[in-house]
Amino acid sequence: MLPQEIYLDANATTPVLPAAAAAAQQVMGQAYGNPSSSHSAGLNAKALLDAARERARRLLGAGDGRLLFTSGATESLQTAVLSALCALRERRQAGQAIGGLLLYGATEHKAVPESLAHWNRLLGLNLELRALPVDRQGRHDLALLRAWGPDAAMVSTMAANNETGAVSDLGGIEATLQQAGSPAYWVVDCVQALGKLPLELARTRIDYAAFSGHKLYAPKGVGMLYVRQGAPYTALMAGGGQEAGARAGTENMAGIAALGAVLAALEDGATFRTHAQLQAFRQQLADSLGAAFPGLVFNTPLDNALPTTLNFAVPQLSSKELLDVFDAAGLRVSAGSACSASKPEPSTVLQAMGLTDWQCRSAVRLSFGPAADQDFIQAACAGIARAGAALRAGKAATSQPDQPLPLDDALAPALPEEQFSLDWAGLPAFLRGHPQAQLVDVREASESLASAITEIAGRAVRNIPLSRLSGELPQWRQQAPGPLVFFCRSGNRSAKAAQCLRRLGFEQAWHLAGGLASASAMTPARHVANA
Ligand code: PLP
Repeated sequence: MLPQEIYLDANATTPVLPAAAAAAQQVMGQAYGNPSSSHSAGLNAKALLDAARERARRLLGAGDGRLLFTSGATESLQTAVLSALCALRERRQAGQAIGGLLLYGATEHKAVPESLAHWNRLLGLNLELRALPVDRQGRHDLALLRAWGPDAAMVSTMAANNETGAVSDLGGIEATLQQAGSPAYWVVDCVQALGKLPLELARTRIDYAAFSGHKLYAPKGVGMLYVRQGAPYTALMAGGGQEAGARAGTENMAGIAALGAVLAALEDGATFRTHAQLQAFRQQLADSLGAAFPGLVFNTPLDNALPTTLNFAVPQLSSKELLDVFDAAGLRVSAGSACSASKPEPSTVLQAMGLTDWQCRSAVRLSFGPAADQDFIQAACAGIARAGAALRAGKAATSQPDQPLPLDDALAPALPEEQFSLDWAGLPAFLRGHPQAQLVDVREASESLASAITEIAGRAVRNIPLSRLSGELPQWRQQAPGPLVFFCRSGNRSAKAAQCLRRLGFEQAWHLAGGLASASAMTPARHVANA
């Protein structure tokens, strides 16, 4: 009934790799010991923990550094910031000069500037937070880093950006800090780099590096923190002495086992595609986008971006319009980072890169995981073509001006939604009991065309966008139709339609709660390798 879901938002989160889910299941069901226990079950768990850590150390080239398991990158970054700032405070209290600046790349994930501000305030350091500008490609301004470096107490620069995929010049940053004689502690957010870029941490001057499991096929709630040997460390959580006293709290063994399985897959090379294969996949997607949306521009030069991320804009189309039609075609993409998805403001990352206002407002991010395969990419390309065609056909079909409902009609009080809500599970029975009921899709024509839903539970569907619904009122008033059942993507627009019609006297106006999104939760999704 619904188009198959094609998940293209891997930079927000990924599904769990089957091998990782199996490893987690095994830990939860059989190897459930507490790694701190001294009996055999505990020893088994400890062996599993050690093995996952050893694997991570090898893969990241952690050398003599520490490798801790955490709840995710936000905690890892937090711990890095706390550790560096505590050391700075001690040095200052001992009368040493520490520099006055906390520098962070202008395109960092919010977890960095927010934790810098938080701990700077709580520790009473009152250092100046300053964003290090980036250029049009998303690369840090090394001339400014050279100028500011000597006064920097700490520098934070991500390895690759989550919205644009822009890859930072970590080698250049390291050389610049060296040339500037900067004493700064250096934090690198490696979340989007894991599995996509080679990392040899101990060969660098990086003091702290943060990782997140759920961006690479492990579950949410597990991450890692690398701490260079000799870099200062302050635990964020104190308690039972786990992680050699560096991070208290019983270890998330299911998450760690799952992450261990992902790292094993990275090591054996069989599950993940090579850089060249990923680049070829991205090119196919880029070509499909270009063909489906004339005038489309890429917001980041592809040769300086992760091979799994595309950020683009289409003239005269807002992010929201594009996202709606993609979603209707089954493609799950986003306008930017998942944390800011609920805010309609233009992307600050793109603004920092100096993109034009319309590009910032129209930006769409498409990202896939490194386990993607050719079939998946082909299905994604077909979905893109469908979305483009639906958008053109939808525009052609709705050339007349809108006829919105009088939604602000204050004549009648608003009704509680339960009074006009139906749920999807009860829809077939409702339709059987009401042979005259009409199903009305109130999404825009382009969305309706993209999802090609012509019937639900055997009943034909009519598309009348919410913006045109009032045009139907005279006819409905005349004919006194049976129940009108409105639906849309999330249940928002359909609730408005039903509410308004009820206020206008249509006692049999209903809406499907949760929209098609809740119905699609019942259908299988297409992820990456569909493994
Ligand atoms: N850093 C980057 C670049 C990210 O993309 C994310 C995820 O949103 C984070 C940090 C935060 O990671 P987590 O969800 O593991 O706390």
